[in-house]
Amino acid sequence: MKLYFIGADHEVTGSCHLLEVNRKYLMLDCGMEQGRDVFENSPLPVPASKIDAVILSHAHIDHSGMLPKLVHDGFAGKIWTTKATADLSDVMLRDSAHIQESDAEWKSRKAKRAGQPEVLPAYTVEDVENTVKLFEPVSYDETFEPIEGVKVHFEDAGHILGSAICCLNIHEGNADRTLCFTGDLGNIDMPILQDPSDRKNTDYVMMECTYGDRCHEEQVDHVQQLADLMNQTFAKGGNLIIPCFAVGRTQEMLYFIREILEKNLVKYRNFTVYVDSPLAVEATRIFTDNTFGYYDAEAMKLIKEGNNPLSLPNLKLSVSAEDSKAINDDTTPCVILSASGMCDAGRIRHHLKHNLWKNNCTVALAGYQAEGTLGRRLQDGAKDVTILGEKIHVAARIVQLQDVSAHADQKGLIHWLETCEEKPKKLFLVHGEDSVCSSFRDMLKAEHGYRVDAPYSGSVYDLVNDAWILEKEPVEVIRKKSEQQSAQSSANYERDNLYLQLVEEGKRLGQLITTYRKAGKDELKHFLKDVQKLIERWDSSQ
Ligand SMILES: [Zn+2]
Repeated sequence: MKLYFIGADHEVTGSCHLLEVNRKYLMLDCGMEQGRDVFENSPLPVPASKIDAVILSHAHIDHSGMLPKLVHDGFAGKIWTTKATADLSDVMLRDSAHIQESDAEWKSRKAKRAGQPEVLPAYTVEDVENTVKLFEPVSYDETFEPIEGVKVHFEDAGHILGSAICCLNIHEGNADRTLCFTGDLGNIDMPILQDPSDRKNTDYVMMECTYGDRCHEEQVDHVQQLADLMNQTFAKGGNLIIPCFAVGRTQEMLYFIREILEKNLVKYRNFTVYVDSPLAVEATRIFTDNTFGYYDAEAMKLIKEGNNPLSLPNLKLSVSAEDSKAINDDTTPCVILSASGMCDAGRIRHHLKHNLWKNNCTVALAGYQAEGTLGRRLQDGAKDVTILGEKIHVAARIVQLQDVSAHADQKGLIHWLETCEEKPKKLFLVHGEDSVCSSFRDMLKAEHGYRVDAPYSGSVYDLVNDAWILEKEPVEVIRKKSEQQSAQSSANYERDNLYLQLVEEGKRLGQLITTYRKAGKDELKHFLKDVQKLIERWDSSQ
């Protein structure tokens, strides 16, 4: 009965753990390492084909993103998760596969010119098709046995729709042990979602600690803040642009806007709300399809009264590029929700291009803006920015909405631990940055009396004997090397992102051309000339 720590150990992405029981293997999460990756995930101790089943805590890519690769490499067991997570993963993994494929295509082209072999994507849409067939949706509190000797049930983690705390009863030989894996733990009082379920008494707890070193600011009234912005912007005849993540944040915004209308908090009521992101549209549909058992009492009350909490009278969902373009023709004040949340990719850039220069418009940043992104430049007060190759003057008002964090903070994590009086035999901290894991561990030991460790990837624990079999220690020199590598990988990330933007614009140009089918001869001549000039300028083979 062994627990292998594979990933999200002393870092916040690449969540992956492996349990060995009765010579069978059960994986807990299979996430992708994203962004500024500090430590490598440890390789799996067995080939993918030897893993018998997977339990997936929730749909975020840093917990689910490598499932198609696992399937590509030979995994053929079941992937147990909640129905909402299965539905969300279906669309999010497809989106991820598209990114992997275009990324590999670009790298291949470059490699070919350098006489190097083709670069293959980590996985393809076909791998995703094979992965979603393996999903085995279960309800919260339903007990299932993914491998012999392990009985599991999920409880609501309150982090995103369908997120689960995984409770395991493990039997091997004469030994019985219990383990609770939190996945990501949610914040309390989040819109739509239930609060995280209380902790149950288990031998072992494996807990995330993303915010183990800090507490969220005092919550503001999000609904009133948004209503004020709408009133101020609409009074000037401008638009309110909200860059936001497609899954979670977009639906929260819809939920707030519905409440604003219901409480009559805006003077001008005839505004249209546009959701302009195909992924956000899909995610909103999944939120609407998965209500019972997932929504909190307040949202369920609306449903019982016959209201869809995410539906608005003037809501327009745009999927095609034409729908998206048509938004710019709307001359009446409107709200535009579009991805990406940090403004560095996706359709939001077109809306910023069309609205940033207008002094009657407002851009409300709805989440964390990472260094180097367009969102951060706007947040820092840039007077001019370059969007899609064009210099745009920033005349619009830029506001930061207070974050509705999807993670419990330090107080929330400790509160959750203490919802059960009996302390676990041992607490493992995962999914926190290096220094956070260490400081939170020391605090829980010193101030709360927990037996707690924060293992590094590659460590292995014997759950029967309650002892480490292998305890990996970080070495300073490796860390230094990792920093260099991560600087390189963040440079690569930025470059890759630019390429993806270019591919997207290329598609837009193709679509634009088709709309000129019936244009006049002169117009066609000019357009053709411009496109030819552009190609000549960039085609180095000519
Ligand atoms: Zn998450």
